[in-house]
Amino acid sequence: MAYRIDTPCTGCWACLPLCPNDAIRPHGTIFTIKVSHCTECDGEFDDPQCVSICPVEEAILDESGRPLNPLGSLTGIPAAVQRSARWVSGGRLSL
Ligand code: SF4
Ligand code: SF4
Repeated sequence: MAYRIDTPCTGCWACLPLCPNDAIRPHGTIFTIKVSHCTECDGEFDDPQCVSICPVEEAILDESGRPLNPLGSLTGIPAAVQRSARWVSGGRLSL
């Protein structure tokens, strides 16, 4: 059992010092989880520490690819609204 980090990760460093198993590493502009080290914090904490601190929705996934902080779970912005949003070249958010 191990989690993984996907491209929504911003490389903010918040998760790295919290991992009890030293499983998280910088990897280019994002971070990665070393599968052989990740225990999903089972037996160590009630909640996975990286998932608890991560401020970015859909950045950390379980083994089946399911986001552990799904769209809308942190921002309160409904997933349907976020999925229909598009950033345009002028930097405006277009719905
Ligand atoms: S779930 Fe726990 S052990 Fe796995 S990477 Fe996150 S903090 Fe580390
Ligand atoms: S806390 Fe989330 S966004 Fe920040 S480095 Fe870790 S996985 Fe990436």
